[in-house]
Amino acid sequence: MLSLDFAVNWIGTGVYPGDSNCYETAKMQTCENKRMENAMTTEFIHELTQIVGANAIRLNEPMKNHTTFRIGGPADVFVIPESPKALERAVECCKAYNIPWQIIGKGSNLLVGDKGIRGAVFRICQTMDSVTFEPLKGESVSVTAGAGILLSQLARRVAEEGLCGFEFASGIPGTFGGAITMNAGAYGGEMKPLIVYAKVLTPGGEILTLNQCELSMGYRTSIIQKKDLIVLEAAMVLRRGDKAEILAQMAELNGRRREKQPLEYPSAGSTFKRPEGYFAGKLIQDAGLKGYQLGGAQISEKHSGFVINTGEATADDVLQLIRHVQATVLEKFGVTLEPEVRMIGEFATVLND
Ligand SMILES: Cc1cc2nc3c(=O)[nH]c(=O)nc-3n(C[C@H](O)[C@H](O)[C@H](O)COP(=O)(O)OP(=O)(O)OC[C@H]3O[C@@H](n4cnc5c(N)ncnc54)[C@H](O)[C@@H]3O)c2cc1C
Repeated sequence: MLSLDFAVNWIGTGVYPGDSNCYETAKMQTCENKRMENAMTTEFIHELTQIVGANAIRLNEPMKNHTTFRIGGPADVFVIPESPKALERAVECCKAYNIPWQIIGKGSNLLVGDKGIRGAVFRICQTMDSVTFEPLKGESVSVTAGAGILLSQLARRVAEEGLCGFEFASGIPGTFGGAITMNAGAYGGEMKPLIVYAKVLTPGGEILTLNQCELSMGYRTSIIQKKDLIVLEAAMVLRRGDKAEILAQMAELNGRRREKQPLEYPSAGSTFKRPEGYFAGKLIQDAGLKGYQLGGAQISEKHSGFVINTGEATADDVLQLIRHVQATVLEKFGVTLEPEVRMIGEFATVLND
């Protein structure tokens, strides 16, 4: 249960006029500002609690508990909205109090800074996870799902219905919303051709339905990332197929993942995007960096495209390793590697774009 007494001290030091260090006018002003800030924060937390319920909010929540890298400092306010309506009102509340916010799904493509995230984090994962099927003409079926359903769960539901075309997604460890945002793909498949529309919330509080063209999905990108939209739900069209074959295909692809990827270690999957005409993992291996370690972060021995957390890696270890790899590959092969992993929050060292 959230304590409002605790919330009072959430931002800043809780210094008040009258404290021994508030002798000078400037300091008095700072203290007054801090007092107002704290009062505003208390009101913000109170209002947010009214909207999403006390059980849906945590303060100073370690983000390492919500990323597959198992890395990340505390988020000031961590919220798990149960419904699109609650999320919509919570975003409105942040706007009213000028509190910055971020959306995350399963956290499987994120590197969160060691100093954490200022403001609010909304996690859409395993809530907002409805699935409905609607037969269309011929062999096609429309599948509408909430942004928070895991791809593995959605793939299983779809396979149970005997629908094919989504097998590639079953081993990608994120949410439907995250996969649309990233245009996730594997083994020759990707989200883009399947998506008919996505219902999104804009930062301004509008709900829009964007069709496939409007979503501007490209290699690991979409309009969602560029405009800070929030995916609430989306629809895709799949074809009827043979259930046994679909399940066998999923098992085969997941077997390949287990064999080739270091799934026994925390990571965020492929660290770098595929540079045109090359494979990031091959370039990194050819640069002699396989197994290279910096602090607790290491280039996987099993797959050089993955940076893994060997146990106690910090976000800064990962960041320094990413920079070292980029510099080495550029120097040896003249190829620029761009991170696929999205970096959010505050890092000890400054992030370059
Ligand atoms: C072991 C492993 C294997 C992987 N294999 C693959 C692979 O084969 N192919 C591949 O493409 N990726 C792969 N990934 C990366 C990752 O799983 C995908 O990028 C996935 O789509 C991210 O989904 P998520 O829910 O975890 O999003 P997060 O990591 O939580 O967020 C990623 C981005 O999406 C945004 N976002 C998330 N949900 C929403 C939403 N509802 N609305 C708006 N924005 C949102 C976040 O703000 C962030 O910018 C792998 C990761 C791991 C750890």
